[in-house]
Amino acid sequence: MNKTIAVIPGDGIGPEIMAVTLRVLDALDCGLNYDFVAAGMAAMETCGDLLPKATLEKIAEHKVALKGPLTTPIGGGFSSINVALRRHFDLYANVRPVESFPATNARYDNVDIITVRENTEGAYLAEGQTMSEDGEVATALMRITQAGSSRIVRYAFELAMRKGRKKVTAVHKANILKTVSGLFLKIARNIAGQYPQIEFNEMIVDNACMQLVMHPEQFDVIVTTNLFGDILSDLCAGLIGGLGLAPGNNIGERAAIFEAVHGSAPDIAGQGVANPCALLLAASNMLDHLGMVHRGDALRRAIRDTMRHDHDGATPDLGGKGSTESFAAAIGRHIKL
Ligand code: ATP
Repeated sequence: MNKTIAVIPGDGIGPEIMAVTLRVLDALDCGLNYDFVAAGMAAMETCGDLLPKATLEKIAEHKVALKGPLTTPIGGGFSSINVALRRHFDLYANVRPVESFPATNARYDNVDIITVRENTEGAYLAEGQTMSEDGEVATALMRITQAGSSRIVRYAFELAMRKGRKKVTAVHKANILKTVSGLFLKIARNIAGQYPQIEFNEMIVDNACMQLVMHPEQFDVIVTTNLFGDILSDLCAGLIGGLGLAPGNNIGERAAIFEAVHGSAPDIAGQGVANPCALLLAASNMLDHLGMVHRGDALRRAIRDTMRHDHDGATPDLGGKGSTESFAAAIGRHIKL
């Protein structure tokens, strides 16, 4: 296969984890070409724009991007560059899988959950945000649509079918947010009826948090609205040992952007200790998306084998003594095609 993808190295630890991720992808012999484009602070410094038009055009052209974390400066005119990218390409499905890996400091070893988060509406509209002149009253608009809820719930059920998963849980707060969350739940129930092969259950978000912490093994695929999905997916990352192992896939009809869930981690940038696994796992999901599931599986297996057999070589966040470079090199050596 010969395919070009857009690559955004990103800010903070981004360039460090991207460099080693591309090296591992090369070791997988995927036939990928990289078209490097800038966004975030890196783009601001080189061309005075946080999200240059040329970057958007390249993503549109290649339809697939691998993205490092981006820093959105305070007062930069964007509430978030990531949100702006998702909105520009209508990347409505934010798919965040978490799976237990061996030899981490995680509390559980039996977690295998995919959170499917609606990515374009809900509390992230950034519309209708007002503050009264006396600073006493703040408001924001939350909007859920039938079309938006239908496509995300359908995406979750189709994903469950495709991946042989057994159950979809719709997480909501319809008892309090009767209109916005109520509409989402009503649509989830309707669509669930069209997939009798998949078990469906529903859970109020506060209970879902407690259940995830106490009995995570009961969850398989979670589908939920934007804000709840953001929070729950970080909670899920915590169940498996932290953000260093959590990839995020942003999927739309016109483009797909694969990234780590974590941010630019300015506190450890430049030290060579950032865990590259979240971006590597995002890259493995990108390979699946490009029809190279065999190579995606090989990469996931290599990460797992490295952690099992060479735990001391992992980065400090996982309890090891390795560096970004040495950990990624070990993963590269464990690749078996
Ligand atoms: P942002 O606002 O961009 O989300 P943040 O600092 O609030 O930035 P993260 O960048 O995700 O959030 O970092 C949260 C914590 O997790 C930090 O202590 C950071 O060092 C740590 N962290 C994040 N990513 C990694 C990684 N890949 N490897 C090791 N530690 C990480």
